[in-house]
Amino acid sequence: MSLMFGKVKTCNSAECNLVLLGVMGVGKSALAVKFLTKRFISEYDPHLEDIYSSEETVDQQSVTVRLMDTCDQEGPVNSERYLLWANAFLVVYSIDNTESFKGSQLYLQTLALHSKTFKPQSPIILLGNKLDMDRYRQVSRCDGEALASRFGCLFFEVSACFDFLSVQHVFYEAVRRARCG
Ligand code: GDP
Ligand code: MG
Repeated sequence: MSLMFGKVKTCNSAECNLVLLGVMGVGKSALAVKFLTKRFISEYDPHLEDIYSSEETVDQQSVTVRLMDTCDQEGPVNSERYLLWANAFLVVYSIDNTESFKGSQLYLQTLALHSKTFKPQSPIILLGNKLDMDRYRQVSRCDGEALASRFGCLFFEVSACFDFLSVQHVFYEAVRRARCG
């Protein structure tokens, strides 16, 4: 795994670094696997943190997307490893779990606190995952939207179990917003 420390990563037209953040169990790895393989894998090593690379075409332009799938045991710690590296941040919670929503606020606060560390145009996307669990929903769409607007984020609800294109759309939107397209 190659990480860049010490200077702000600049984003050029050929590459874009995305990081998935959020408490354990929200589906970060499932979303990463879905984006990279189009498949839903229900059991994924919960302690695995890695960076994956994929050649993508976003709006007719090729881009190397590097995706860091993090696994913090207890909320945001050692955030330096992605603050300087990422061109866009995806903060994930699970719509069927209020605690994970509270956890996502901690990540957004951490990002807000360090917003001067990373490039100001680095977008943050708040992502409510497990939309297929709508009947067990604990976090309303409205609450998700309100939190996103409080922190100036984009907001989406998705499911790693649903269609690939809706998941791909979120990652591509992160690339677009990072002006890496
Ligand atoms: P992570 O700790 O954030 O990486 O979460 P994982 O990707 O390991 O997922 C945690 C659990 O949630 C696993 O049992 C997954 O199968 C499940 N999961 C992940 N995404 C979804 C989803 O969109 N819908 C449902 N129903 N389960 C999901
Ligand atoms: Mg994981």
